Amino acid sequence: MIITKEDILKIAEPFEQMYGDMSNEILILMAEFIGQDIDEPIDVWQEKKIKQIQILLKMVRNIQKGYPYLRLINHALNETVDESLKEVEPALKKGAEAGMLSVASDVASSLSLNDLKKIKKQEFAKTFANMNSEMVNGVNQSFNKAITNVVVKYNQKTGRMYEILDDAVRKTLEGQARQEAVTETIRQMIEENIPAFVDKAGRKWSAEAYANMYSRTNVHNMAIETVNKRNEDYGNDLIQVDKHAGARPLCAPYQGKIFSTSGRSGTVEDAFGKKHRFKPLSSTSYGEPAGLFGINCGHNPSPFIPKVSNLVAKPLTKEEKKENDRIYQESQQQRAIEREIRKAKTEEIALKKAGIDDEKAKQKVKDKQAKMRSFIKETGRTRRYDREQVIQLKEEKK
Ligand SMILES: [Zn+2]
Repeated sequence: MIITKEDILKIAEPFEQMYGDMSNEILILMAEFIGQDIDEPIDVWQEKKIKQIQILLKMVRNIQKGYPYLRLINHALNETVDESLKEVEPALKKGAEAGMLSVASDVASSLSLNDLKKIKKQEFAKTFANMNSEMVNGVNQSFNKAITNVVVKYNQKTGRMYEILDDAVRKTLEGQARQEAVTETIRQMIEENIPAFVDKAGRKWSAEAYANMYSRTNVHNMAIETVNKRNEDYGNDLIQVDKHAGARPLCAPYQGKIFSTSGRSGTVEDAFGKKHRFKPLSSTSYGEPAGLFGINCGHNPSPFIPKVSNLVAKPLTKEEKKENDRIYQESQQQRAIEREIRKAKTEEIALKKAGIDDEKAKQKVKDKQAKMRSFIKETGRTRRYDREQVIQLKEEKK
């Protein structure tokens, strides 16, 4: 009946995809810069790279400009409204036909929903703009660090070479040292990824991970607001909270109960004439990050229409809940392996762009693909080759 965690994940997915693509594109570009001029004496190389930083940052900003933020935001917000009202809207309409609610104009012309969309659109756009400038800072730091790393690693590897051998042999060894220094540095750079957000605890979030967390949280939040606002469009302020097993302590006491979104308390009759007490939604943990409808909360409201609705009698059975969890867990697992594949491919491409043909990187891609094959075989899920591409959004456009 209500929007599920799986629905939310699906709606939020393109944002994670976009930032994953963007990060990979930037990492590959950085690797290309590192690989250029590497045959020059190391101090000459270092000087050239430091001079190139501003060009690199400009190219990074251009890469960022190439992504369809507004199209994705509009699409996600519209989907959230459609998905969360799929069964709510007919129920409200029925309530209006039964004379228990006032008649509302259609969804597309709802002023409150259009306002909500406008606000959310601005919030998403602002968050992405902040992420982008944080990423530019991140690239700056990470590229400077990479330059230093290549020099340090090269010097370590060649430190005692002057003592030895004839020129030709030494040149070969220096060439090898260069390749190793560049390979190790690029690997480390990809491993560390590009941060797009630093939280209060000082933890750096990769663009991909932050886009995932932010968009899931906000799609869920949007879904809740959509139901509450649409309910109010029909002149109703009563909602009930769904029930599920394993609810968090700040949610558990409110499951299956009726609340008023306009701050009233009182009693209301259900379809059988049975009376139920309700309290203001603001009297719950609503609004706290770990509270009802907060971050990672799996609960959703649905309208409670006087004399039409009934209380959700029972939560999902243990088996149903287990099945839901299994599906969700498996989709998360598949996403994780897809990320591993993309990372391995990014490494392979990045090294190639830096002029290095690395067998280990190729093998890593094959290993991760084999891991996916056995996961798919084990679970019977559908493999998503599109999500295993390094740059997915742009591939789709071709
Ligand atoms: Zn909850």
